[in-house]
Amino acid sequence: MFRGLISVRKMSGVTKFDYLVLGAGSGGVASARRATEFGIKAGIIEHGRLGGTCVNVGCVPKKIMFSAASIAEALHDAKDYGFEINGTTKFTWKVIKDKRDAYIQRLNGIYGNLLSNAKVETILGHGVFTGEKDPYPIISVAGKKYTAPHILIATGGYPIIPSEKEIPGAQHGITSDGFFELEDLPKKAIVVGAGYIAVEMAGIFNALGCETQLIIRRHQALRNFDSTISENVTKEMEAAGVTIRKFSHVKSVEKIDGKMKVTIKCDDPSGEGMEEDVECLLWAIGRKPQTDIGLDKIGVKLDARKNIAVDEFQNTSFPGVYSVGDVQGKALLTPVAIAAGRKLAHRLFDGKTDWKLSYENIPTVVFSHPPIGTVGMTEEEAKKTHGEANIKIYETNFLPMYHQMTKRKTKCLMKLICLLPDEKVIGLHMQGQGCDEMLQGFGVAIKMGATKTDFDSCVAIHPTSSEELVTMR
Ligand code: FAD
Ligand code: NDP
Repeated sequence: MFRGLISVRKMSGVTKFDYLVLGAGSGGVASARRATEFGIKAGIIEHGRLGGTCVNVGCVPKKIMFSAASIAEALHDAKDYGFEINGTTKFTWKVIKDKRDAYIQRLNGIYGNLLSNAKVETILGHGVFTGEKDPYPIISVAGKKYTAPHILIATGGYPIIPSEKEIPGAQHGITSDGFFELEDLPKKAIVVGAGYIAVEMAGIFNALGCETQLIIRRHQALRNFDSTISENVTKEMEAAGVTIRKFSHVKSVEKIDGKMKVTIKCDDPSGEGMEEDVECLLWAIGRKPQTDIGLDKIGVKLDARKNIAVDEFQNTSFPGVYSVGDVQGKALLTPVAIAAGRKLAHRLFDGKTDWKLSYENIPTVVFSHPPIGTVGMTEEEAKKTHGEANIKIYETNFLPMYHQMTKRKTKCLMKLICLLPDEKVIGLHMQGQGCDEMLQGFGVAIKMGATKTDFDSCVAIHPTSSEELVTMR
C-alpha cells in the first residue's frame, strides 16, 4: 500500500496531491478512483463534462442511436413475421435526443458522485503545465496551482476537420460531436471517412431514413480490419441503401440557404466531379490527441503521430508523469483507457510494480449494420508474422435463421485464424446479427490461448449464429 502525503497540503500557494490526473474521461476517472482505494489523496482536473468522450459524445449516445436504428430495422421486418402495422410508423429524432441528453446528464451527476464518494477532489477548469516545479511539475487551473509526485495525463482527443486551405468551406460540416447536437434527422447527409465513426454514423442515419452517402478515399471502408470484414461491411452498407462514393474526396463546400452544396471529386482521372445538396456533412476522418497542455514546458515527448509517447508501463519521457487513453494513441477504446488507468494505479500505489496493460488481443466491436466483432490478428497480419504455411483459416458465411423469414437480408460471416501446428486461435473476425454480444466470451477464450480443438470441445448452442464458431470445418 502506498504511503503518500495522505492529506492535501498547501504550500506556497500550490495545492499538493499524491496523484494528480488531468482529464476526467474514461481513463482518468478510473485511475483516480482506483488510486484512492490505496489510501492516497487524488485530484482530477476537468474542463468539460465529467465522463469525457465516451459518456458525452461517444460510446453511450452512439449506442442509444444504434439501438434506435436497430428498432427501425426490426419494424421494417415486422410484417415479414406476420405483424400488421396500421398506418405509417413515424420516427421523431427529437424524442430520443431529449431522452438521451437527460440520461447523459444523469451520468454526469453519477460520475461526480463516484468521484466524491471515492474522495477524489474534482477541480473544474482547463489545466496546463506551467513549466514551474515544486518540486514536481505544476499544473495551473484558472490561476490556481496544483502538483503531485505522480501526474497522469488522460486528456483524450478531438475530431479532425480539414482546414480551409485543404477544403474550402469544410468548417460548414460537423463532426461526431455535432452529430449528437442535431435536433432533427437530416433528410440527406454526406459522411466522409472510412473508419469506425463513419461506418457507425452512416449506418444510423441510413437505418433511420436519411438518404446517406459515404465518401471514401479507397475502395472499401474499415481497411485496417481483416480484408473479409472490409469487403463485407462495404457490401452490407450498400445493400442497406448507403450510397458509397469510392476513390472520392470532397473538393469544396458552400453554405446556401441553410443547406450545403458539396462538390465531390472522384479520384479516377476520368472521374467527374458532382455536386450534392445536403442538410448535413459529417467529417469522420479520424481524431487527434489533445496535447495542447504545455507539454513542451516540461519536455514530455510526443511520438511521430503527435501522440504522447509512453513505454509499456504508461511512463512518459518525464519521470513521474504518465499517460493513458486516447492521448497516447494506442487502441482508442474506452475499456482500454480504463484498464490502463487502473493497472497504473495498482503499479504506483498498490505495490504491483510489474502491472501493465497488455495491448494484445483486445476485442472490439463496430456497431455497423449488422455489427462487427473482431479480436486478434487479421489474416494478412497473421500470414506476415508467421508465414502463410503456418496459418490455417476457417471461414463460414450464412444467412441467419432470422433472415430466412425477412425480405431484408444481412449475412453472417465468421473467420478463425489459427496458428499451426496446434491450431491456436490467434484471430477471430465476424460480421452478422448478434456478433456484437457474441464476442466477449470468445475474447476470453482467445486470451487464454484456446485452440480450434478447445473451441470444438464446447458443445454448440442451438439454434444460434454463435454455434458456427464451435462447429467450423
Ligand atoms: P476522454 O474520454 O476523451 O477524456 C479526456 C477528458 O479530458 C475529457 O473529458 C476532456 O474534456 C478532458 N480534458 C482534455 N484536456 C483538458 C485540459 N487541458 N484540462 C482539463 N480537462 C481536459 N470506444 C469504445 O470502446 N466503444 C465504443 O462504442 C466507442 N464509441 C465511440 C463513438 C464515438 C463517436 C467516439 C468519438 C469515440 C468512441 N469510442 C468508443 C472511443 C472512446 O470514447 C474513447 O476511446 C475514450 O473515451 C477515451 O477515453 P480517455 O480517458 O482517453 O479520453
Ligand atoms: P479511424 O481512425 O477509425 O478512421 C478514420 C478513417 O478515415 C481512416 O482510417 C481513413 O481511412 C479515413 N480518412 C483519414 N483521413 C481522411 C481524409 N482526409 N479524407 C477522407 N478519409 C480520411 O477514426 P474515427 O474517427 O472513425 O474513430 C477514431 C477512433 O475512435 C477509432 O479508431 C476507434 O478506436 C474509436 N471508436 C471506437 C468505436 C467502437 O469501439 N465501436 C466507435 C467509434 C470510434 P482510409 O485510409 O481507408 O481512407
